[in-house]
Amino acid sequence: MSEKKEKVGFIGLGIMGKPMSKNLLKAGYPLAVFDIVPESVNELVAAGARKATSSREAAVVSDVTITMLPDSAQVEQAVLGGDGVLEGIRPGTVYIDMSSINPLVSQRICKRIEAKGAHMLDAPVSGSELKAIDGSLAIMVGGKAEIFNRCRKILESMGKNPVLVGDIGAGNLTKLVNQIIVALNIAAFSEAFVLGAKAGLDPEKVFEAIRNGAAGSVMLNQKIPSIMERNFKPGFKIALQRKDLKNALEVARDMDVPLPLTSLVQQELIALTNEGEENNDHSAICHFIERLAKTEIRRGSAKQNQ
Ligand code: NAD
Repeated sequence: MSEKKEKVGFIGLGIMGKPMSKNLLKAGYPLAVFDIVPESVNELVAAGARKATSSREAAVVSDVTITMLPDSAQVEQAVLGGDGVLEGIRPGTVYIDMSSINPLVSQRICKRIEAKGAHMLDAPVSGSELKAIDGSLAIMVGGKAEIFNRCRKILESMGKNPVLVGDIGAGNLTKLVNQIIVALNIAAFSEAFVLGAKAGLDPEKVFEAIRNGAAGSVMLNQKIPSIMERNFKPGFKIALQRKDLKNALEVARDMDVPLPLTSLVQQELIALTNEGEENNDHSAICHFIERLAKTEIRRGSAKQNQ
């Protein structure tokens, strides 16, 4: 006999939330969805979800309510604000925040959720929109083991091998570790490829030559092909990358951990934002060094801007 599936509420149907909620539908979960953008809700309703008119309603009708929102401020609004999750959540049910936010905010929200007799996990993800579409996201989870085990199947319908890292907040701390590595990786290979391009190397040949060596990485494989095509459609926006490094630098400051390289890349992201790049993919970090060197990383021969 097949096991009865818990009802799921999903709030935040952006680049990641849309495909993640579609995968929940595919896995057979009864799903209620909410976003402040009505077109996104309509798209999921057409795919078989039920429409919720607020975050509160999504929580009222669900056993497990998930948020996938940009940052701490939006999560606090959707959970603690008027018509929010906290007003609708029932004792014994679960709230999972899958957004990448400040871990201290996760811990604060958890206290409010637990005061209502409900439970919380923080479960941010890593991987691109493509991994959200094919259901292979990496998921790093903070919270109690029994709640993680209860929600494991739900998480597995959106990602591969979710890992319980520690108590509430540990998921978002792990995500900060992840995001420092991602951003610094892009900044590092951008500098390196600009040097190669200005010296007259074909970036495509360089990529083929080094991708399986010690400098190879998931980021290199994902981003160099689109950079060479000059395609900076997000993906993962510069604004979100900047938000993650801001959260990392805040946590590090409170713990007296110097993060010199992270601070440097954050300065590049601030400069790129001032140039109107906040909605470009984070691979546009390469523009910072390209403009200084007057050289672009392009497929074919290196184009040098004079
Ligand atoms: P996005 O900006 O595309 O989507 C955010 C969605 O939240 C939008 O649809 C927006 O309308 C909605 N929203 C905002 N405030 C709301 C509110 N108060 N109530 C209801 N809906 C609201 O962002 P995204 O790229 O999907 O990222 C979401 C989270 O996932 C972020 O924390 C991001 O850092 C993280 N993340 C993104 C990627 C990626 O590749 N895009 C990868 C891993 C993790």
